[in-house]
Amino acid sequence: MSEPREQDRPAVVWFRDDLRIADNPALHAAAESGRPVLCVFVWDDATPELRAPGAAGRWWLHHSLVSLGDALERLGARLTILRGPSEQTVTRLLRDTDAAGVFWNRRYGGVERRIDEAVKSTARDDGREATSFGANLLFEPWTIRTGQGTAFSVYTPFWRACLAAPAPRKPGPAPKSLRGAALPGTVKTTPLDDLGLLPTHPDWAEGLREAWEPGEKAAHHQLEKFLADDLGAYREERDVPGVDATSRLSPRLRWGELSPHQIWHATEERRDRATAQGAATFASELGWREFAYHTLFEHPDMATVNIHREYDSFPWPRLHPSALRAWQKGRTGMPLVDAGMRELWRTGVMHNRVRMVTASFLIKNLLIDWRHGEQWFWDTLVDADPANNPFNWQWVAGSGADAAPYFRVFNPELQREKFDTHGDYVRRWVPEWDTGDYPEPIVDLKETRQAALAAYDAVKRSR
Ligand code: FAD
Repeated sequence: MSEPREQDRPAVVWFRDDLRIADNPALHAAAESGRPVLCVFVWDDATPELRAPGAAGRWWLHHSLVSLGDALERLGARLTILRGPSEQTVTRLLRDTDAAGVFWNRRYGGVERRIDEAVKSTARDDGREATSFGANLLFEPWTIRTGQGTAFSVYTPFWRACLAAPAPRKPGPAPKSLRGAALPGTVKTTPLDDLGLLPTHPDWAEGLREAWEPGEKAAHHQLEKFLADDLGAYREERDVPGVDATSRLSPRLRWGELSPHQIWHATEERRDRATAQGAATFASELGWREFAYHTLFEHPDMATVNIHREYDSFPWPRLHPSALRAWQKGRTGMPLVDAGMRELWRTGVMHNRVRMVTASFLIKNLLIDWRHGEQWFWDTLVDADPANNPFNWQWVAGSGADAAPYFRVFNPELQREKFDTHGDYVRRWVPEWDTGDYPEPIVDLKETRQAALAAYDAVKRSR
């Protein structure tokens, strides 16, 4: 066999949580190299420290990969799926194809960064180019620092510093066409269907199929619709769960069907007098996502370890599995909590206000360790996110960065009266609520709140 010409050695693009072709700097760089492009996704269920996506996330991932594969085929390339430990699998692919280079967009979790570093250094030792890009955050974590050079631990100055930094770059276009690379027979690919990402028995995904169409094209439609219909009133209505007033872009961001740069600049383009307040509030929510990722960068183990370690002494009582089960199934007798948990189970998302209330109820009324709640959300949210999910759970628990103080206990009944005044949201998810068939609350709000505050004293004493 003759040696491949230098210009025929492929450029590998390693897709991870950036399942899009537009504004994808890694794909762009590979295409610009003039080499054949080899697009790959690695399903890694072999590296034990990596947190595998939960069930709802796997459902989304499957469909988003189908959509990405179709888009790449239209451009002249295709998506190759490999299965195995990422570090070894990518390294072997580079060697088997004698790739000239590998390109990817950065991840920010601790294990992910270690894997990426290892692949990069082996590739370079082998004489290949290995280049990573910032694409999934507006601001790279090491660029936003306090005057002392440390990471911010409070949101408001953090976001102020972001807004004072150079503006996020303009999003790039999708490539017009790609020269797809041929794959040598030595590379063992896996059909997407063999990964088993979709539920089979039982098929619980009916509600997800009704609620969502994963993929980059649908993501763009959704962004356009939100900006046209809802941006103006976003600030006033974003807290009302009965109104469809938020963007519902979280799974798009989680899986990278849209980049935050695309959302940021599309929002800026819509900013006028009527939408200015909505646009600023919406941008600051994207800011919370940035803050969560920067916090993950500093605290890679935040899904399991309290950011404020004094919370390690919190005296969690023995777990009552039946209470956890009632919460998971939306059978606590607290209408707003039950509505949220049922919305989650059916659609794979829950309104932000209700996420706060259900989380607070689990932690501060059922006195169940936040990690149990975080894990359930991880399994059932289509937007379950390695930064946003643990960050927000710790925020509610009081143990996190710039967290709500522990003694601020949401009262789910007052929250319902305030944010779901006419009961539209509760009735949608708990139709039996005002029919007389609805159960009594499984706990007394006042007593459990007192117990939680007493337990909190233990933390205060340990300081
Ligand atoms: P919009 O109001 O339209 O906001 C736009 C975007 O800003 C969101 O898509 C999201 O990317 C970001 N954003 C908004 N609020 C927050 C926030 N509090 N923290 C970080 N980013 C935010 N969000 C996730 O994306 N994944 C999660 O796993 C997740 N888990 C959560 C767990 C708890 C206990 C709580 C209280 C919140 C959690 N959130 C999570 C944050 C928030 O609830 C969702 O991002 C939001 O409800 C998604 O709806 P949206 O896209 O319509 O939001």
